Amino acid sequence: MSDRSMSSEADAWACPHGRNARSGCVTCYEDSLDPDPASPMWQVAVWFTATRAIPVRTLKEVRRHGRQFTLAQPSTPLVYLLTGHAPAHDAAQAIAGVVGFLLRDQQVAGTFTVTDARAVPLPPALASPDR
Ligand SMILES: [Zn+2]
Repeated sequence: MSDRSMSSEADAWACPHGRNARSGCVTCYEDSLDPDPASPMWQVAVWFTATRAIPVRTLKEVRRHGRQFTLAQPSTPLVYLLTGHAPAHDAAQAIAGVVGFLLRDQQVAGTFTVTDARAVPLPPALASPDR
């Protein structure tokens, strides 16, 4: 029953703006559009449930955002997988930025709940810049 231990766990998944990474952060997303060149690149995967089906056309349009963004429907109805590259100082910031994309462009997913998220650092050779 220690608030302190709970908050330290939350801190581990908080972005630099103090938001929970899985809740997303629009500021982190906007920062990722103009990243610190020293930031490593991350491969991020975010699973989320949407309250309505996302049209196939919208799933395809996500690719136009660049940075290898893809939005796919693995198999279960209303469960989606958003993947993409994100420049960030740590995994929490990378995830917050990718979820922040869904927050900022609400016409993509509408209301959603993130169920799982992962970020792994990309080797520099794979972190190719946007075309
Ligand atoms: Zn943030």
